[in-house]
Amino acid sequence: MILDAFTLDGKVALVTGGGRGLGLGFSTALAQAGADVVILDRSGSPEAVEAVEALGRRAWSVQADLLAATPEQVQDLVTQVAGEAGRLDIVVNNAGIIRREPAIDFTRANWDEVIDLNLSKVFYLSQAAARVMIDQAGGLDAVRAAGESGGGRERSIGKIINIASMLSYQGGKIVPSYTASKSGVAGLTRALASEWAPLGINVNAIAPGYFATDNTAQLRANPERSAEILGRIPAGRWGRPTDLQGVAVFLATAASDYVDGTTIPVDGGWLTR
Ligand code: NAP
Repeated sequence: MILDAFTLDGKVALVTGGGRGLGLGFSTALAQAGADVVILDRSGSPEAVEAVEALGRRAWSVQADLLAATPEQVQDLVTQVAGEAGRLDIVVNNAGIIRREPAIDFTRANWDEVIDLNLSKVFYLSQAAARVMIDQAGGLDAVRAAGESGGGRERSIGKIINIASMLSYQGGKIVPSYTASKSGVAGLTRALASEWAPLGINVNAIAPGYFATDNTAQLRANPERSAEILGRIPAGRWGRPTDLQGVAVFLATAASDYVDGTTIPVDGGWLTR
């Protein structure tokens, strides 16, 4: 039955930045669908862990600053997470930052840090997770053979969900590193899907429109920008983290096993105008 394809019983998900904002919405959505959830962020988020446990799932907090982590440390973290949770099936690359400053004055730190966290760490974390997913499916040779036998891949061995943005499509205003990083995320999503779809790993992205979180607090505090943005959203309101939950569960479950490399906008119609 089709609804059976939307369950995550026995699966383990890792959600970066999963303790607040959109990430908390992803953590609780995956838990509601049946997954145990590892929340990775800088602050450690006891309330988010409690929220997942209250849904009857196991939850862990991993406190780590992804900006400070080397690719090797990212690999160690992911290996450790899978070891502690017993496996790893789903990664949501959600942790992200934004810096606003006119391009002409843009500082090196505002460029480097945004590109590092929003794009480079998405790559290294996806690479680390794919290695774990391939290992737990019996190794590269077994996974390749499964993809090649019988005329194509029959089952997925893992799901990677990247968080893109409207600025994966548009230029935005005074956020050059953010636009570059999120446009890169859409491209990276296609690149990884192209390589890993044959192995059984679905890589896709969600592009949220304008959502009421800390990330957009500055925009919402500016009456002119806030009205300008709201006036362009056909749905007539800012998005809420719950608006993203259906698409996240879809991309995490067997329901999306034949979906690879796409970026799905969830934007109240923003891109139609
Ligand atoms: P948010 O409320 O600012 O939350 C950001 C999350 O990322 C927090 O959980 C934070 O953890 C984590 N994080 C930041 N720096 C980190 C680091 N160095 N290491 C580990 N974790 C770190 O942002 P949001 O609005 O929920 O956005 C989540 C994602 O959606 C981002 O990628 C953002 O670009 C994207 N997005 C948001 C919107 C929107 O309208 N809000 C629209 C499009 C795309 P701590 O709690 O430890 O700081």
